[in-house]
Amino acid sequence: MGQISEAEQFLLDQIRAGDQAAWSRFVERYRGRLLSFAQMKLPQRADAEDIVQDTFVGFITGLANCRGESSLETYLFTILRRKIINMYRSAHTRYVCLVQDVYRTSADEESGSNVYEFFASDETTASVYARRDEQSDLLRAALAAALQSLVDGYKKKLNFRDLEIIELLFYCQLANQTVAGIVARNEKNIAVFKHRCLKQVRELAARGGTPEPPDEGFEDLLTEVWEAGRMSCPKRSTIGAYLLETLDGAWHDYVGFHLNTLGCQFCRANLEDLRKQTAADESRHVQARIMESTVGFLHKPR
Ligand SMILES: [Zn+2]
Repeated sequence: MGQISEAEQFLLDQIRAGDQAAWSRFVERYRGRLLSFAQMKLPQRADAEDIVQDTFVGFITGLANCRGESSLETYLFTILRRKIINMYRSAHTRYVCLVQDVYRTSADEESGSNVYEFFASDETTASVYARRDEQSDLLRAALAAALQSLVDGYKKKLNFRDLEIIELLFYCQLANQTVAGIVARNEKNIAVFKHRCLKQVRELAARGGTPEPPDEGFEDLLTEVWEAGRMSCPKRSTIGAYLLETLDGAWHDYVGFHLNTLGCQFCRANLEDLRKQTAADESRHVQARIMESTVGFLHKPR
């Protein structure tokens, strides 16, 4: 995922120049996955459609704010998510988990504070990292690069088990104990692994000459950076290949983990959208076949 691609930048430039066809292509490209995401959170189809429409309005009216730090998909998901959160807030709902909600524990529910609270608010004001200035932007960029290189390293070596663990630890910010349970390892093992990863990330980030980040709030920041860059999220085409079952064994299992066990909702929205598309393609294909084999029997006008 990461930053905006060249193709996306080109599309964005066309939209900025007022190109209507480009805007229509843009809406066409992203509407399905946004709608799938919204429908997971808002059971009423009409609500979901309204909020997706609002998201595109938000995008086009705030075009100046799109600085290309995330992919366009992630940027749109961010706008959509903020709108959903606001909707829940105004309905006085305490809790919205938007990265995934597979691992809510009953203890979390009772205490009213849980690992996902981070995701429930737009602003992580509690830490020194809340501030956005040039220095902290540099730090974010350095951490993003460090996390990305960690993720890419695991993917290259097909070390999906460790990749899954860092996703659970840093993308989802789950506790060591919960992670240990999911991946069937002991907790100590996970703690050691996590410690090593944190050290690695700090060292990698420090190479860019950014100042040493303080411990306080550091893991929140990693999650924020991970979420903005969606370091490990498979490409949409890979999710498509997963759906068609054409991925190699290890990749298939990993993408399945990301979608179903980790439950990344951005990727699940893509999966759902692709599923609908495939079903629509199949239905069109059947229609074409039926027409082809029957049209000759239609009575010709005399
Ligand atoms: Zn994902």
